Amino acid sequence: MSATRDTAQAADLLTWYDRHARELPWRVSPAARAAGVRPDPYRVWMSEIMLQQTTVAAVKSYFEAFTTRWPTVSDLAAAEDADVMAAWAGLGYYARARNLLKCARAVADEHGGVFPQTLDGLRALPGIGPYTAAAVAAIAFDLPETVVDGNVERVMARLHDEHLPLPQSKPVLTDYAAALTPQERPGDYAQAVMDLGATICTPRNPACGLCPWRSACAAWDRGTQAELPKKAPKKRKPTRHGIAYLVKRVDGAWLLERRPDSGLLGGMLGWPGSEWSEEAPADAPPIRAEWKTLNAEARHTFTHFHLRLTVKTALVPMERTPARGAFVEAEVFDAGDLPTVMRKAFALTSP
Ligand code: SF4
Repeated sequence: MSATRDTAQAADLLTWYDRHARELPWRVSPAARAAGVRPDPYRVWMSEIMLQQTTVAAVKSYFEAFTTRWPTVSDLAAAEDADVMAAWAGLGYYARARNLLKCARAVADEHGGVFPQTLDGLRALPGIGPYTAAAVAAIAFDLPETVVDGNVERVMARLHDEHLPLPQSKPVLTDYAAALTPQERPGDYAQAVMDLGATICTPRNPACGLCPWRSACAAWDRGTQAELPKKAPKKRKPTRHGIAYLVKRVDGAWLLERRPDSGLLGGMLGWPGSEWSEEAPADAPPIRAEWKTLNAEARHTFTHFHLRLTVKTALVPMERTPARGAFVEAEVFDAGDLPTVMRKAFALTSP
């Protein structure tokens, strides 16, 4: 495709975006941007970290809660780790929350509270990979970086009728996306392609009749859009088993344990438990007690495996000391501060 044709195609998408951009709490609308409003890099960065592996619908309330409580990167940098982890609870992929804090502190301590304005500067911050750096550079600083998420990959695969399966096709799709990225309004353009993928060129039943790129779309021309993008078959996820010990003291306090910083659910509060393994887990009670095993299991799916947790409960007297974890008083305990899998185990204990 020629450069002129690419420029015209980008312009068609921007015209569509000017009319149909989604309203998102972290977004500066195309009209406001044209009027000179600049996005706040802190909000752009926060939204991009939250949106990794998570839907817009799930992120909105977390984004609003975080930016209300910590309105600037320096506020977030000064927050207590435990408060940030608790506020993140339920959003999943908890390494993101730890990296969020590390990054905020790096921006506050090493950059005077101002995000670097280059791709390399952003890339050097903790927890910012190539995708996030490109997204922040484009959206916050209007740099002509190529931003490729799952939406963009799908649109590019269809536009070029690319049948090579993902993830093998990633470099090719990135090249296609790079060729289209304009010098004019690259920030709006990056958001426009994502919006096109999220609202028109959807995984199922793309609304080709409403698409500003239909006349340029090879998949539309050949009727192959429903088959694209092709994906390499997924590996079957194994199932792991574990035991969660839910211990209540007679005064209503609950025994909780903070998980080690590295690893799954790192840094999050949770129920003391056994190892999670594909074999039957060894019993590892955190305190001496009379245990009751619940009939139902807590089930949860992580990226690489399914988990089935056997839930054991016990009521212990005041003087009993745990070998692991610490009691959290009833007035302070909030199941909402726990990651989803731990909440599921807790829900099984309530009638
Ligand atoms: S014409 Fe259809 S398949 Fe092609 S980019 Fe538009 S929505 Fe996607």
